Amino acid sequence: MQHILEDSTALQVWLAAQGQPAWRAKAIRRWLFAGRAASFAAMTDLPKDLRTALEAEFRIWTTSIAKHTVADDGTEKLLLELADGQRIECVLLREQGPGADDAGARRTVCISSQVGCAMGCVFCASGLDGVVRNLTTGEILEQLLRLQALLPGHERLSHIVVMGMGEPLANLDRLLPALAAAQDPGGLGISQRRITISTVGLPPAIDRLAAENPGYNLAVSLHAADDDLRTRLVPVNRGIGLADVMAAADRYWEASGRRLTFEYVLLGRLNDAPEHARSLVSLLGGRAALVNVIPYNRVAGLPYEEPTRAERERFLEILRAGGVNVHVRHRKGARIDAACGQLRRLAASAG
Ligand code: SAH
Repeated sequence: MQHILEDSTALQVWLAAQGQPAWRAKAIRRWLFAGRAASFAAMTDLPKDLRTALEAEFRIWTTSIAKHTVADDGTEKLLLELADGQRIECVLLREQGPGADDAGARRTVCISSQVGCAMGCVFCASGLDGVVRNLTTGEILEQLLRLQALLPGHERLSHIVVMGMGEPLANLDRLLPALAAAQDPGGLGISQRRITISTVGLPPAIDRLAAENPGYNLAVSLHAADDDLRTRLVPVNRGIGLADVMAAADRYWEASGRRLTFEYVLLGRLNDAPEHARSLVSLLGGRAALVNVIPYNRVAGLPYEEPTRAERERFLEILRAGGVNVHVRHRKGARIDAACGQLRRLAASAG
């Protein structure tokens, strides 16, 4: 059986072979993305024999919800079990809008791109066991639909961040079609400007994205401003180096015209000293970038810790004084282990 979310042309080809009009494909996709139909049987404006035939040929869902957790702040996290028994995580974050009637409210989803991760960042739960496999386009889209289904009927997802498990730029072939479907007005209708791809910084893949799809927001995970420390924290840096990462980020910025984001996970007594902040200011060298400072979210079994409040404030002050735009990512869903890979590991260790 085919996964209906995997490839939109497969449905068109199949409908044509059934002698069905082409516009049915659009109607079916509308049910999937906006109508939230959980089954073909629920697609009540389709002829009954077509629904039966669809059911025999296609699956809508290939995942099942292994665990659903809700935090006090409204953050919801799903642990999804894939058809082969592997597990991935995805998160729905709610931010209230400043306007009346909740205008400007965000409903951001954080999705995974791989099972596990090959990048090996020493502090991150996702890569502890390496990468198992890439997610398929359908599995990436299914995360979006599963999370959308948690919202009341009148609410829509507004933003996507590809910051869950995995390295998205190591799986662009499957990620890009999924993000294209997310943008499609007949899909989720989420504009490219509201989609952020977070990468450890792989220059050839950044260049490919700049050439093919420069409209996404790119976030580059730095975590250190000198190569020695960065290679200790982000081992894949050994074969790349910060100069090449920064040059690729600059090329992306030129192609996209969109402000770059750099992420910096603050690890107590490792990369949070004043000298680290000063070297980050000089690495950024006046670029019109945003630095997203993320206080470390502890991972059971790993020796890393969050910085003290005083260290964090001192770090931020030096960045600001150096003219850097800084945003501190407030913890959301910390109590439900919403940081990447944590829930999957907990669930695995609990059997
Ligand atoms: N592979 C991509 C996406 C990873 S997750 C990347 O490296 O950017 C998104 C961000 O969360 C990355 O900056 C990652 O380093 C960070 N992160 C991973 N584990 C974390 C933890 N336990 N606490 C805080 N941030 C973490």
